[in-house]
Amino acid sequence: PHGRVFNFSAGPAVLPLEVLEQAQADLLNWRGSGMSVMEMSHRGKEFQSIIDAAEADLRALLSIPDNYHVLFMQGGASTQFSAIPLNLAADGDAVDYIVTGSWSKKAAGEAKKYAKVNVAATGDNKSIPARDSWNLSADAKYVHYCDNETIQGVEFKGAPDVGGKVLIADMSSNFLSKPVDVSKYGLIYAGAQKNIGPAGVTIVIVRDDLIGNARPITPVMLDYKVQADDKSMYNTPPCWSIYIAGLVFAKMRADGGLAAALANNEKKAKILYDAIAGSNGFYNSPVDPAVRSLMNVPFTIPSNPDLEKEFIAQAAKQGMIQLKGHRSVGGMRASIYNSMPLEGVQQLAAFMQKFAAQHA
Ligand code: PMP
Repeated sequence: PHGRVFNFSAGPAVLPLEVLEQAQADLLNWRGSGMSVMEMSHRGKEFQSIIDAAEADLRALLSIPDNYHVLFMQGGASTQFSAIPLNLAADGDAVDYIVTGSWSKKAAGEAKKYAKVNVAATGDNKSIPARDSWNLSADAKYVHYCDNETIQGVEFKGAPDVGGKVLIADMSSNFLSKPVDVSKYGLIYAGAQKNIGPAGVTIVIVRDDLIGNARPITPVMLDYKVQADDKSMYNTPPCWSIYIAGLVFAKMRADGGLAAALANNEKKAKILYDAIAGSNGFYNSPVDPAVRSLMNVPFTIPSNPDLEKEFIAQAAKQGMIQLKGHRSVGGMRASIYNSMPLEGVQQLAAFMQKFAAQHA
């Protein structure tokens, strides 16, 4: 409907049609306030009710324990690459990073400016190094990893066991895609623009005892204690992004929460991985089957990489867009976040089969 395509973009990505329609209905006059959410004071009762409801729904979805703060921050997930060491480690403190792809590598690179980074394990961009090979440092302030590598399509299937260490996860590209035991983490962060809303807001879920130790040079906007004390309103928050994310949270609760989201995501991902596996080698997934992402499905045409361009172009002509792999890895990538409809994935799998038959 509405001439909309199936959008396989890695982000910003597809949002639920119902949410967009609700935003459209609210646009000129949000619930009788006489203004749009973009125009209202962030200090007014209207916006306060929006951010309160968003936080409450997010807490309910993830069963976030009371000793965790939910912060609505800005600057994208990339800004958290700096905020984390600035808040959780002193100059010269050891911090551990697990590198399983491009984003965890970037996070580690940024942290090097602020702390003594120990890369405790480095993957081959297709798999996750066995836990017993990780070389964690005894005195690390935290262990950082990326739960889903958006570019490589490598996803952890549960929180890694780091003993009593503070575990930090970048969940930017699989946030709210599955149930998560928040109590296993010291901090979880995620940019919004994949699973939950427009770019502009970054969710930080942080345990209470970890805040309040930011270095004196930490920019005030990145100080978790300031953001927690001011309820994410030290300055003007990204009101519109929070509002849309709130609509997504409410819809997800109504649709059965994270267990339902996981079931949908498993079903959709299986259709694509089965299409690859059933292609007699025409398509290849480079990723270890044990850690294949439910969100980002990279694949190639190994016998004839020149065909990949044609695949992407033909798919686009049929309304399936943004299937090009990340510029750093090439090939194709289908990002199938929570809001990608089942029909989109079915249509892509059917197209893959037809394309293979034409070119095999
Ligand atoms: N981490 C992951 C896993 C990502 O996928 C991305 C964005 N693609 C980022 C971090 C960076 O996010 P942002 O653009 O919000 O800074």
